[in-house]
Amino acid sequence: MPSLPSLTGSGQEAPSPAELRSTPVDGIDVLGALSPSRASDFMTCPLLYRYRTIDRLPEEPSADALRGTLVHKVLEDLFDLPSPTRTPDQARDLLVPTWDALLAAEPGLAELFTDEGPDVAEWLVSCRTVLDRYFTLEDPRRLEPAERELYVETVLESGLTLRGYVDRLDVAPATGDLRVVDYKTGKAPRPEYADEPLFQMKFYALVLWRLRGVVPRRLQLVYLGSGDLLTYDPTETDLLRTERKLLALWEAITAATGSGDWRPKRGPLCGWCDHQAFCPEFGGTPPPYPLAENPGPLPVVGQNGPV
Ligand code: SF4
Repeated sequence: MPSLPSLTGSGQEAPSPAELRSTPVDGIDVLGALSPSRASDFMTCPLLYRYRTIDRLPEEPSADALRGTLVHKVLEDLFDLPSPTRTPDQARDLLVPTWDALLAAEPGLAELFTDEGPDVAEWLVSCRTVLDRYFTLEDPRRLEPAERELYVETVLESGLTLRGYVDRLDVAPATGDLRVVDYKTGKAPRPEYADEPLFQMKFYALVLWRLRGVVPRRLQLVYLGSGDLLTYDPTETDLLRTERKLLALWEAITAATGSGDWRPKRGPLCGWCDHQAFCPEFGGTPPPYPLAENPGPLPVVGQNGPV
């Protein structure tokens, strides 16, 4: 069984101060690294980025995040089965053993399900509901993914490293067209909020374009919470625009790293933020910024940070 994904929900990379250095790779002076989740953190709230990436403040796993981890793992393992047996019943049969494996890897997860917290049996039913919904959106008996949980990484000419994990990559047998698939256990966003998940998908498309020399034909978000598919067919122009946006984002991160000016940005996601106690927007005071330990102007993240 492949290794289990982390449950922290805080994304792909978290550089230590020792990693905040410029490192040459293939003749390119590497500036630093971004994953979709870290880019999204900064766009959501620069102070949240600081707390997750620079300070590495701990975050409590939530039942919702844990459901996402469990369902992702079951969907990954489902494709290990012979295609005719990839049925809803088989997926349900995978659920509890996969949960047991997660618990064995991180026994502390059991603490989520206390007398005051959610009931584990009800929570497992909710996981099953989400899994069942998957089968209303795709028929895995008719799919043979080329890759699952694919780690991708590329260094742009500018020196910015982009990296992340693609849930699933499909390659059309006849044409070689790429389809990038991402599972979301939440509900599909209203159209006015669809830019952020699509930005994440364009990030992956940009990395795959750089690695494989072809623009993915389709980006597909599978929303298991609401039973929706969101698809987008990117163009080179889209991906060049995404690259420019990421570089601008990195410049802003670099400026904040140097100045220590990580501004809070209040928004709808504050309700889920673990760091309100340190947030000026909620009457809190940020801990001292570790400028002395973090002297480099351009942070660089290790090649394979925790997921
Ligand atoms: S509570 Fe909101 S504004 Fe404050 S750090 Fe968290 S996301 Fe940012």
